[in-house]
Amino acid sequence: MSTTQHPQENLLDWLRDAHAMEQQAETMLSSQSSRLEHYPVLKARIDQHIQETRGQQERLETCIKRLGSSPSTIKDIGGKLMAMAQGVSGMVMGDEVVKGAMSGYVFEHMEIASYTILISAAKAAGDMQTQQACEQNLREEVAMAEWLLQHLPEVTQAFLARAANPDTEAKR
Ligand code: MG
Ligand code: FE
Repeated sequence: MSTTQHPQENLLDWLRDAHAMEQQAETMLSSQSSRLEHYPVLKARIDQHIQETRGQQERLETCIKRLGSSPSTIKDIGGKLMAMAQGVSGMVMGDEVVKGAMSGYVFEHMEIASYTILISAAKAAGDMQTQQACEQNLREEVAMAEWLLQHLPEVTQAFLARAANPDTEAKR
């Protein structure tokens, strides 16, 4: 006989995973923003998304608490450690800004997948409030992913121009 899980149990697990993912996002974005010097447009959009990310964490926390649980400290710490490792690895790269923008684009798509799954799970569990919270988070991730895709060429052009000029630093 196999054990069964109610949709609500998986939903709660995935909400806690998403909370850890947003902790990772905040750490990663904060380290990127604090290091950027010569790319003010990118930095400003990252700062906006840090604020959005904090709001997403709060939305997730509200859902997790309503389901009778709390965010997973262990998972949250794991996510932050991964983000810190990523930040450190960026510092040794000469093209940090380009790699950072690329990683950001990839990360947004992991978030888009996570919220798409959560929305589906919330529907299965009949949890309208969680569904709506995840739909709001999803909209912000899609907007950030689209912004990054639109601005990757311009970031690349600015990086290449700075790299080709002996008087300007390009990497961040
Ligand atoms: Mg997010
Ligand atoms: Fe995001």
